Amino acid sequence: MSIIKKVRTRYAPSPTGFMHVGNLRTALYEYLIAKSQGGAFVLRIEDTDRERFVEGAVDVIYNTLKLAGLKHDEGPDIGGDYGPYVQSERRDMYLPYAEKLIESGHAYRCFCSKERLEKLAEDSEFGGYDRHCRDLSREEIDAKLKEGLPYVIRQKMPIEGKTTFTDAVFGEITVDNSELQDQILIKTDGYPTYNFANVIDDHTMGITHVVRGSEYLSSTPKYNLLYDAFGWEIPTYVHLPLIMGKNEDGSVSKLSKRHGSTGFEDLIADGYLPEAIINYIALLGWCPKDNREIFTLKELEQAFFIEGISKSPAVFDYDKLLWFNAEYIKAMSEEEFTERAMPYYREVFGDRDMPFEKFAGILQKRLEKFTDIPEKLRFFSELPEYDKEIFVNKKSKSNLENAPVNLKEAYDRLKALPDWNADAIHDCLINMAVEKELKNGTVMWPVRIAAAGQTVTAGGAIEILDILGREEALRRLELGIEKLAK
Ligand code: GLU
Repeated sequence: MSIIKKVRTRYAPSPTGFMHVGNLRTALYEYLIAKSQGGAFVLRIEDTDRERFVEGAVDVIYNTLKLAGLKHDEGPDIGGDYGPYVQSERRDMYLPYAEKLIESGHAYRCFCSKERLEKLAEDSEFGGYDRHCRDLSREEIDAKLKEGLPYVIRQKMPIEGKTTFTDAVFGEITVDNSELQDQILIKTDGYPTYNFANVIDDHTMGITHVVRGSEYLSSTPKYNLLYDAFGWEIPTYVHLPLIMGKNEDGSVSKLSKRHGSTGFEDLIADGYLPEAIINYIALLGWCPKDNREIFTLKELEQAFFIEGISKSPAVFDYDKLLWFNAEYIKAMSEEEFTERAMPYYREVFGDRDMPFEKFAGILQKRLEKFTDIPEKLRFFSELPEYDKEIFVNKKSKSNLENAPVNLKEAYDRLKALPDWNADAIHDCLINMAVEKELKNGTVMWPVRIAAAGQTVTAGGAIEILDILGREEALRRLELGIEKLAK
């Protein structure tokens, strides 16, 4: 009977201070592969590349995972049975493994000087490291060690034959071993290279599924040779398709800043909601069985399956993301909408008290991003300068002859209202249209223009008057009447 191992995936970001959507997608798929199979999602910080280390970058990782709702089961902050979860804290465990490989003939010490390697690289026919130290004799090695010469440890690649592995997305991949470089496993400073550390870490942390970008496909045979050398089981590989961006000329190229924001935090600052970004990114390279589009994270945890991942490049479409965002806004309860919109309301109205709960009614259905709110509501705060020509509207049959008459009539009727609320305003204006045998629009147009000072508005005449309140609404209508009289 075979024992089914508990699924364990890991997200292994390098703390660079920036979370590209590609990294976020990797984290999401790792999370989903684990959660869809009752497994564990592990966070490991890969900080061995000290040159790339950025202060505060680890916090960016925590914040992103938190905002995205991707809760890890083990990690530096919460611990677990497989720690430490920060690579620099694991530093001492790599060298003994590399030494084991030296003993078993799968690795060797390389004493080549920087100068020698630089000269090699200058050679026009440079085909990588020339394996100069691969077959040093025991005596030569001992002498160099005695001299205290610095060295790296390199992997001894097989020179003949082929290495084959199966990727869950890209299928069978075969490389000629002759193409594989004797890559460095341990650097002169004793730190492992990423290429070595990821294998040791994934094995010792019991990782069953390694999920990463397809740029790692070509390195995977080298990792597998390490697993084989140790006699370890090779994990399931899930390489993810590239993420492309649309260029102006219709072509596509790797997603970069010139296509738009590519960082999770930047997208949020642009007004996209974390849940919309996550939903959209889930579909960036994965397709559910029924082509459904809207998924909460919980629903994705149920629906996700590895076979749904595609190997063809995915194109990041900002318009589509905007559509998702609008859908998420529409689906919110009025209370939630108001709560999330409040910082943007405050941007327009400061501390002023407004009937905030009424804004949802005029905004929610058509809002694409919360960041658009200030622009849409500014006219409530201050009547814009406008030209009387905008009282003219063909479709509403409003012109500079009838607008002054209709606006004055509407003003008189509204002024006489005992109560100021949407129903009362509605009945008042509709009754006027009926009694005067006018199209509703012929009444509403000049009223809305005078109330808002612009042609395109969130909300119609009735809602705008209601929100402005009696005093401000009537003041604006008076100004409109004056303007039309000039
Ligand atoms: N630290 C690597 C990166 O951020 C991780 C790659 C992997 O998933 O193994 O690209």
